[in-house]
Amino acid sequence: MRTRFAPSPTGPLHLGHAYSAILAHGLARAAGGTFLLRMEDTDLARCKPEWEALIIDDLRWLGLGWDGPVRRQSGRIAQYNMRLEALAQSGLVYPCSCSRADIRAASSAPQEGVAFDVYPGICRGRPMGDRQPGDALRLDLAAAFDHLGGRHIGFDESGPRHGGHIEIDADLAKATIGDVVLSRKGEDIVSYFLASAFDDADQAISHVIRGEDLFRFTPIQVILQGLLDLPTPAYYHHELIRDPSGHRLAKRDDARAIRKYRQDGISPAEIRAMVGLQDVSANR
Ligand code: GLU
Repeated sequence: MRTRFAPSPTGPLHLGHAYSAILAHGLARAAGGTFLLRMEDTDLARCKPEWEALIIDDLRWLGLGWDGPVRRQSGRIAQYNMRLEALAQSGLVYPCSCSRADIRAASSAPQEGVAFDVYPGICRGRPMGDRQPGDALRLDLAAAFDHLGGRHIGFDESGPRHGGHIEIDADLAKATIGDVVLSRKGEDIVSYFLASAFDDADQAISHVIRGEDLFRFTPIQVILQGLLDLPTPAYYHHELIRDPSGHRLAKRDDARAIRKYRQDGISPAEIRAMVGLQDVSANR
């Protein structure tokens, strides 16, 4: 087993992240496998070295050790752009100049079952040669499925909510995912979808262990891996740690920051007990 913890250093490590990291680390160690740490810091405006340092310090304090150096996505932008370029060469990407307001105006009311805002396709079909400075790049999902030529695209999931083999249905994906942004407007920076999907394959991750909140993005990443001829790992999306009122923890929920617990004199063992993971391997 080869797995990873891949935080975005945009805030402190909180109890929910700690759960994810302890679980992935523990499963890797129990299997005699590898546990990697990857900073998903492509959003230069929101990611800060101070947050990264704090996350690393908190992980060490929790007793989690990782194998090899920390990978930082901010140093790998050229790699991601090469993959984006390959998709563009295959006619799978188009420039998009729509503002949020344009998209909102063109979209109908949010539909039941739609995981997030589906782009209504205003710029679809624009050639890459037409790209203006500041345009985003979007994946043409219909063209992507044509490119995959009816190949079965799916993934194995062993998490508690959606266990089994999940086949990605082209029509459902078009209706619920749509033409996602692969490179953001105004910045030459690839999206989380591409960077993370590429790195999971590049780091030969066998099992992606992460929160249930990211399950909805998995089909996009699996499609991208298919388009880039990369292997798809197995996935385990775990339940989220919630606050007493049942809401999932947010980064801004500083009351649940590991740093705060440390200041209050809580021990790593108590954190493990709080997230219900006292039995997974520690201190290795
Ligand atoms: N960087 C993402 C986050 O902090 C997680 C990515 C992943 O585990 O795939 O939410």
